[in-house]
Order: sequence, then structure tokens, then C-alpha cells
Amino acid sequence: MSRVSTGGLVFEIADLIDHPGKEREVSGTADDIRIEMEDVLVESPVGVTARLRWVIEGILTRFHAEARASMRCTRCLLEWDETLAIDGDQLFGVEPDEDGYGLGQGMTIDLSGPVRDELGLTLPTAPRCRGDCRGLCPVCGNDLNRDPCGGHEDDSDSPFAVLKDLFDS
Ligand SMILES: [Zn+2]
Ligand SMILES: [Zn+2]
Repeated sequence: MSRVSTGGLVFEIADLIDHPGKEREVSGTADDIRIEMEDVLVESPVGVTARLRWVIEGILTRFHAEARASMRCTRCLLEWDETLAIDGDQLFGVEPDEDGYGLGQGMTIDLSGPVRDELGLTLPTAPRCRGDCRGLCPVCGNDLNRDPCGGHEDDSDSPFAVLKDLFDS
């Protein structure tokens, strides 16, 4: 049986408590997640499905989340979007864990924090458009993946060489 969340990623779990092995699938959408790094941006909505199960220590959740991520290659500055899919676990115990996640007073759990944490851990800090991206030429700015410029040690063949001579003289 599937149940829509009561708001964001907050789910009621009162019916699971003290029912060992009882579990339920839930789904919801996080509307308040935004992770911005230099070359990566992830914004809501983040779609989440999760399996909630009562274990002795509390509610064990196993979740799957998908989000759109805007990336920029740190080498050649190419931009693209892709769908990130992550999986994670979180135990909501009677006592909150070191991250502050635990069973709420109103017998609810909120998955938005664990989902955001897991997304943050999964994001690449330095995305690349491909593993062997050659980046931009530091001299002329050419995208070396498409247009190798052959170096600049000797620029006498360049059409700008004449201009350069003019400026130099
Ligand atoms: Zn690149
Ligand atoms: Zn160049």
C-alpha cells in the first residue's frame, strides 16, 4: 500500500510502531532542497520513494531519490543537465542520532534531511564532461576537445603575427 506524504517528505509512522517486520512504501516530493556548489546545482523538486519498516531500534527507512542536476565541466566549462539517482538508509530511533534525525513527537519522520545529506555526498565536486576532457587552451581559450590549437611557443605563422610585430615596434 502506498501513501502520499503529509507534506514534503514527512510521513506518519504511528501504525508501524511496535509491529516488528511491518513495512510500508511511501512516496513524496521534496520542495525545499537546493544544493549549490561551484559547478553543480541541484534544486527541488526531488522525487523520493521509500520503504519504512519497524525494527527494534525504531523506523528503518530505505530511500531512493531522483533529482535534476545542472553541471558545468571544470575544465572546458561545458554545461549540461542530468538526472541523479541516489539510494540511502536512515534509522529513526527514539533518541535522535548525531545528525539530529529521530522519531518526532507527533509520530512522524522527515526524510528531507537524510535525502539532502545523501545528495550532497554523491555530487561530484569537480564535474567533467568526460573523463579525458582536454579543457580550454590557457593562451587562446580554444576548446581543445574540438579544436586543438597546437600550442603557442612559435606564433610567427599566426595571422596576428603581423599585428604583434606592429605593436612591438
Ligand atoms: Zn569538459
Ligand atoms: Zn591556444
